[in-house]
Amino acid sequence: MKVYSDKEVWFVIGSQHLYGPETLKKVDNQSREIAAFLDKSADIPAPVVYKSVVKTSREITDVVHEANSSQKCIGLILWMHTFSPARMWIQGLNQLNKPFAHLHTQHNRDLPWSEIDMDFMNLNQAAHGCREFGFMGSRLRKERKVVVGFWQDPDVTGKLGAWVRAAAAWDDWQGLKVARIGDNMREVAVTEGDKVGAQLKLGFAVNGYGIGDVVEYCKNVTESEISALLAVYADEYNVASDIKGNTGKETSMYEAARIELGLRGFLTDLGAYAFTDTFENLHGFHQLPGIAVQRLMAEGYGFGGEGDWKTAALVRAMKVMAKGMEMGTSFMEDYTYHLEEGNMKILGAHMLEVCPSIAAEKPSLEVHHLGIGGKNDPARLVFTAPPGPGICSCVVDLGNRFRFITNEIEVVEPDQPLPKLPVGRAVWVAKPDLKTSANAWISAGGSHHTCLSQSVTREMMEDFALIAGVESVFIGDGTEMYDFKKELRWNDVYYHLNNGFKS
Ligand code: MN
Repeated sequence: MKVYSDKEVWFVIGSQHLYGPETLKKVDNQSREIAAFLDKSADIPAPVVYKSVVKTSREITDVVHEANSSQKCIGLILWMHTFSPARMWIQGLNQLNKPFAHLHTQHNRDLPWSEIDMDFMNLNQAAHGCREFGFMGSRLRKERKVVVGFWQDPDVTGKLGAWVRAAAAWDDWQGLKVARIGDNMREVAVTEGDKVGAQLKLGFAVNGYGIGDVVEYCKNVTESEISALLAVYADEYNVASDIKGNTGKETSMYEAARIELGLRGFLTDLGAYAFTDTFENLHGFHQLPGIAVQRLMAEGYGFGGEGDWKTAALVRAMKVMAKGMEMGTSFMEDYTYHLEEGNMKILGAHMLEVCPSIAAEKPSLEVHHLGIGGKNDPARLVFTAPPGPGICSCVVDLGNRFRFITNEIEVVEPDQPLPKLPVGRAVWVAKPDLKTSANAWISAGGSHHTCLSQSVTREMMEDFALIAGVESVFIGDGTEMYDFKKELRWNDVYYHLNNGFKS
């Protein structure tokens, strides 16, 4: 079962009438075989549907129009089995509004050295047919992923799979609703931005709601609903000994469950899969939502603290990319450092809202005082992320455009236990090293809020930015500040010229 079983990727093959029906029949049969293989591949998380061998400009525009209007189609894999004169593709590629990947492969892996004749040569022309097609992609300035290699090679299916995950997240963003509950933390800069620009460039819509809209939902929650949810808490988490059995009215756990039910009802009725809140707008709330936000994130909702709608949308996109993968994905904040020379680390956390999908162990449910927000003590899940590779990503609004920034990291075990730290957290080593990572991140204007994922890869983020047509910079092994700063300056010029007045 594919994780994006309600979506499809279409496999479209370019050719022409020059070779006659017999060759075209072989092209069709071999293309169906490849489509079936890709469809079965566990590396590719959406169904791959063989669509057609297109031989004329009309056939190309017809399949493009069908893709554009299909709710199911999240992107096209295009392959030129034979030569397909690329002027036939101008109209279609110009009108295509779905992502496409260019698969550069060949039906035969090996040259049949002793038997090869001109019939074989005429049938297996991707080596030059795909170059003709590639020229038109570049001539039209179309961003696309090019995947090169034999179609059964795990490297090829892996690269296509990463692109499919990015395409699924992009599909999700087109029409995604982000609920901004309350405004942002006052005076904060990076959580602001151009909502109109975001909607026209990235597809998701951000709308504000008063905290009272959610409070109404919380008021309407029934006692039996709260009791049932408290039983779930007791089952799924280690409830701290000092609050165990504290399920009566007015307790923090009881009110936390009420907030979860109210918030869930509000978001469900709205059809929003990402949201923000802020500790500065909590009027009518018993406590800052902690476990409610944590559990909603674990179900796939995007979240950003302090009104951070860009991070909320990004967390949602990365949740979609990570669907069905083993490791977790969470809203995160670079909180504090260990600056020992040779052993530098970042401790990431938030006031409360870290997703338990990154928990290495069964989380403990605890209630502690929170100095910020001026409300009652909030309930929260406490845990530590498991070691392993990951990324931290953010999206910032530079005024004339958006920029994605991704840092490759290695999550590690904390050097020592953290018995007095009552929040979900992750400790990581930033690549290539903390000094270069933080320097590059800060130089690029990266936000303090991020999405940390131990499933989403750098490649998926590259593909996602490519599909979005948005600047994306990467910090990892090999990053040098001198070159990185040059990249930022050059990108300023490129995106300024490329976007013109459209940003
Ligand atoms: Mn924050």
